[in-house]
Amino acid sequence: MLRSLGLVGILIVGTACGSGIAMPLAESDQASTPAAPVAQQTEAPQPAPAPRAASAPRSATATRFPYAAQPEWLPTQTNYWEGRGGAPIDYIVIHYTAISYARTLRAFSIRASDVSAHYVIRGDGHIAQIVGEADTAWHAGSAWFNRHSIGIELELDRITNPAFTPEQYYAAAVLACAISARHEIPLDRAHVVGHNEVPGSTHSDPGPTWGWPHFMYLTSLCAPPTASTVHASFVSETAFPEIATHEAARVSIVLRNTGATAWRKGTSQEARLGISNNDPRLAFLGDGWPAPDRPAVQAEDLVPPGGAATFSFGVKGTRPGTFLVPLRGVVDGAAWMDDLGIYTVITVLEKSARF
Ligand SMILES: [Zn+2]
Repeated sequence: MLRSLGLVGILIVGTACGSGIAMPLAESDQASTPAAPVAQQTEAPQPAPAPRAASAPRSATATRFPYAAQPEWLPTQTNYWEGRGGAPIDYIVIHYTAISYARTLRAFSIRASDVSAHYVIRGDGHIAQIVGEADTAWHAGSAWFNRHSIGIELELDRITNPAFTPEQYYAAAVLACAISARHEIPLDRAHVVGHNEVPGSTHSDPGPTWGWPHFMYLTSLCAPPTASTVHASFVSETAFPEIATHEAARVSIVLRNTGATAWRKGTSQEARLGISNNDPRLAFLGDGWPAPDRPAVQAEDLVPPGGAATFSFGVKGTRPGTFLVPLRGVVDGAAWMDDLGIYTVITVLEKSARF
């Protein structure tokens, strides 16, 4: 009994994710336990944080962002509700732990703590999954919000991880992108919120400690493109080519990414220049086009929102005539870009009469 009471005392201090005073389930006498002394009792005897398996290779291999999130499945047996009572998943809630990663995982498997989250991101970017996304974790301090959201805890602890790391931002972003793809949650600040922003929240985490602009920028680089996030404006176009039969020319068109998701070459986020309405009948003009109705793909590896993409393609004078090629940007599998009325006109001059 004494032992379990002591445990509860520690948990009250520890799992408040941002504020030791605000734990809703704390017993009144234990809630007033001063935070610092208890934390020191448990953490101070350790001279240094335990070495982590991932910290050595971190420096050896540079993080290539974005990447696919690969959480380690470490389920809690106690602190969740099965299912979501029919509620749709509409929000992602960001927290920080205020205790170490190890203590957080322990707390999430102790019934008396009454807390959990779907994911916990360690200081080195390692992701643990504690609760399945189809089930309800106890993180937001509101049953309604718990039903409607996925909770992500970030390790922040005076000793084990005193400040958010770049790896944590990357991991949180790729995780948010994967969640967005699974549940069609828009990655904007109306749908990705801090615990402190949950209506009625008494918690302060993550607050301004979390670099929201940087985090949201990172999510734009990995977010799944949709009809609402794929947009473009016109920047420039080379002159209409005039060529003889058997001659070739190149056309370049530059579009600005005015949408909310990045264009990434060689991925499902790749921006392409398509022929409007997927008309393949002008493919005879093509010189090395990726597809009969896709003259070009973006030249740049990464075009973030606000950036410009260059689409260059070859044309050849297969037969004489004047050919209007209507063009429109597209992210295949996601959406057409805005129809900007772009076209090029290819004039192929008869040359066969000349000897
Ligand atoms: Zn929290």
